[in-house]
Amino acid sequence: MAFHSEEEQIEDYLFKIVLIGDSAVGKSTLLARFARDEFYPNSKSTIGVEFQSQKMEINGKEVKAQIWDTAGQERFRGVTSAYYRGAVGALLVYDVSRRQTFDSIGRWLNELQTHSDMNVVTILVGNKFDLKDSREVTTTEGKDLAEAQGPFFIETSALDLSNVSVAFQTVVGEIYNILSCKVM
Ligand code: GDP
Ligand code: MG
Repeated sequence: MAFHSEEEQIEDYLFKIVLIGDSAVGKSTLLARFARDEFYPNSKSTIGVEFQSQKMEINGKEVKAQIWDTAGQERFRGVTSAYYRGAVGALLVYDVSRRQTFDSIGRWLNELQTHSDMNVVTILVGNKFDLKDSREVTTTEGKDLAEAQGPFFIETSALDLSNVSVAFQTVVGEIYNILSCKVM
């Protein structure tokens, strides 16, 4: 016997989300923690682009996010335009304990705007906030940059699993809101 009624039917959305930011800021670890709930202290980056599909619940609806990871590509050749194609959301990640990764955010934003074919919902992510003693970028600096550029802002620790799913949920939730406004 089937229990599905009309209104119970799950809407099937698939959103492409890209992870960007300098090498070693924790992009792969954030994704691994979010998608697989694992932490690899000595994770090594592989070369090439990888993605993970993750089911999420937004407003009681099931939404599927396809989250792309640069997988070390950013270290060598740079990220190609194919990586950005079709992306509707982005996590711009820096490491709060390395200022140079924060200084790169403007460049990453430019690249995102150049290569993407639509307005991409963006969240600025200050990762590794567990490294309290070696912090080089303050929370206020992150907030101020986010305010100037428009994206959302959050500090995370992939190590402690703090705010990891909130970061992804914020982007996907906003995309969902924008799309459902357009539909109605
Ligand atoms: P990616 O190059 O941006 O993908 O960075 P990785 O995910 O490979 O992470 C680089 C290094 O930072 C690895 O040794 C991770 O274990 C470490 N790392 C990632 N996230 C955190 C975090 O939140 N806190 C701490 N302390 N280390 C982290
Ligand atoms: Mg990586």
